[in-house]
Formats: sequence, structure tokens, C-alpha cells
Amino acid sequence: MTDKITPNAIRKNNRKQIYDFIYSAGKVSQNDIASILRLSRPTVATNISELEEDGLIFRDGQQDSDQIGRKATVYSVTPDYRIAVGVELTGRHAKIIAVDLYGHKIKRVVNDIRYVNNDSYYRKVCDMILEFIGSLEMSEEQILGIGIAMQGLVSPDGNSIIYGEIMKCTGLSIDVFRERLPYKCTFIHDPEGAALSELWVSPELISAIYLSLSEHLGGALILDRNVVRGKSGHSATFEHIQFDPHGTKCYCGKTGCFETVLSMHALIGEENEEKFFSMARKADTPESEKWGSYLNILGSLIGAVHLVNDVDFILGGHLAPYFTEEDLRVLYDVVRKGCPFEEPDDFIHISKMPSHNINVGAALPFIKEFLDSADALTGSRK
Ligand SMILES: [Zn+2]
Repeated sequence: MTDKITPNAIRKNNRKQIYDFIYSAGKVSQNDIASILRLSRPTVATNISELEEDGLIFRDGQQDSDQIGRKATVYSVTPDYRIAVGVELTGRHAKIIAVDLYGHKIKRVVNDIRYVNNDSYYRKVCDMILEFIGSLEMSEEQILGIGIAMQGLVSPDGNSIIYGEIMKCTGLSIDVFRERLPYKCTFIHDPEGAALSELWVSPELISAIYLSLSEHLGGALILDRNVVRGKSGHSATFEHIQFDPHGTKCYCGKTGCFETVLSMHALIGEENEEKFFSMARKADTPESEKWGSYLNILGSLIGAVHLVNDVDFILGGHLAPYFTEEDLRVLYDVVRKGCPFEEPDDFIHISKMPSHNINVGAALPFIKEFLDSADALTGSRK
């Protein structure tokens, strides 16, 4: 069956088009909407009054004009018409953030709580989430959902942790949250959250490999502006590709994985990263030697993966802000050494969003789903 173009479908499409335009442009008048979208003024007027009545947009002042006379009212999208919550669970913290329809932070709290894979922990975390949501003073229907980012591989449907060796939570079901929280809940692998944040702040980004260089090594594969989990959920797990068969043991039980040489833990152990880099930038220090060797190994991984997937590479995570132009030059040199043909030096980038990226990214799938759906905007007007 093919979709028929019914008057209702046209109405829905106009409404979505107008909403999207106000969302992107902000502070626009009815005249601007009509002329830019080539819609009739009555169509725009009807939709604007419906969107305003439903609370999706609001009158945001009057247009600046040099002309003397009546100034036109301008409209903006109500940023908190709907919001989403992102939760990042780590070994020591439960970080909770609420973001609006622009992905902007409304509120964020960091709770100290040691992760234990048991019922009492999930009960405490759910209580923290409920208390946080209560403090926002929003209606239940405003909350689109809760994304829970964890250091573990997530099933393609987001309902379970298929591999959670770091947190010892393999097999964990989203039900431990769903049965306590009256909202939609989904799991997100932490580098996926980071990659979603990167996409959010990078409209030009289409396809890329995201490497998360934090306490642990992680990765995400971005294809046509989507993060690809893969057939069974383990796309882009660069951390377990073997680098050195005689290397040190990885948490996965195998030997010499890239995790054991490229994670921040492997590089600096318990040391403070700022202190490490202040020494690494001095000539002939053990730290500078260690950093040189790290760049060589990272360059070889990037080079090999780039032969398989010729896309941009984004270096994210806690180490990302420490990379210099000179470090990137070193990486390109290593990549070129391992490549039989010309390699340009325009494909390795530093993350634009090094902080709160996983926390925000956990909330973004719900925001994206809302903004992508024409039905979400119709409310009771079906
Ligand atoms: Zn491993």
C-alpha cells in the first residue's frame, strides 16, 4: 500500500515544516515563514496559532525594524516543551542531566555512589533519578525518556548489556530501571553517547570513527549521521583488537589488546593527567617518551582502520583536550608510513565536546526521536 497524500497528511507536513523552521531559525515572524517556506499566509497563521496554543512555540518579542510602523511578532520554539534525561553510571558516580529540545543543559547533578550490580544499587540510583526529575518541577508528559549510559556493550534494541566486563554487569536488563521509573528507558554504550553528542554539535559531520580515549579505550562508528551498533551490538570495539600477542592482560581476559596500550589507564595509571602532560611536553623525560610511543601505537591503529573505512576520525575522551597540532602531525606521519598510497592530512579531528559528552549523549536519542517525528508535534490534533 502506498501512502496517500490526504489533506490530513498535508496539514501534518506543513505543521512539521513550520515547526522545524522556527526551531532552526528562532525568532521568526509569520511573514518570514510564509515567504521562505512558500506557504500561504492563512496556512502559516493557522499553524502558528495551533502551535502556540499547544505550547510548542511562544511569542518571543517583536522584530527589530528600521521602518516606522507596526513591528511583527516573532516566534521561537519552547525549549522545554519536552525534555530528556541522561544518566551516566560509572564505578564511582551517577551523573544525571536534563536537557531541553536544543540539547542544552537544564540541570545536572553528580552523585557519589559506588557501582555494585545489585538490586539495592539500582533502587538507590532510581530514587536519585526520581528526586532529580521531581526537582525540575515538570509534568510527567514533558519527560520524553531516560537514557542510561554504561561502560558496556548494549544490545541493538537498547534493552540489555550484552558485554559488561568492566562493571561486571553482563546480561543486565533495562527492566531494573523500567520497573522503578515511569518513563521510557534505554541503555547506551558510553562511547555511543559521546559520539551522539559530537554529532549534535557538528552539523557538518556525516560519517566518522569516534575514538574515546578515556580511562578505558572505546569507539563508535558513525554512518550517515547515525551511530551504528551493528548486527549484534559490538561495532567499533577497537579496544579488543590485539596489538601485541605478548603484551599485558586485558580485562577481557585476552592478551595485548589495544585497551592495554591506548587507554588512559595504560598511559598514566593513577597519575594526574595534567601533571603527566606538563612533563610529557618537556624534552627527554620518561613521560615524553611514553607519549611518543602512545602516538605511534594510536597512529598505527588509525592507519589500519582508515584502510578499511576511509572516513574522518574524531579523538574524544579525557585525553582529547591534551592533543596538540604537533601530535596530529606525528599521527599523520605514522598513518602515511603504513599506507601504500597518498593520505591527506585532513581527517583526524579533536572532539568539539570533551565535557559532559556521555551524560548529554545519553539523553539525545529521545530528543532526536521527538524532533524527527511529525506525529510528536500534532499532540491531540491527529
Ligand atoms: Zn581485550
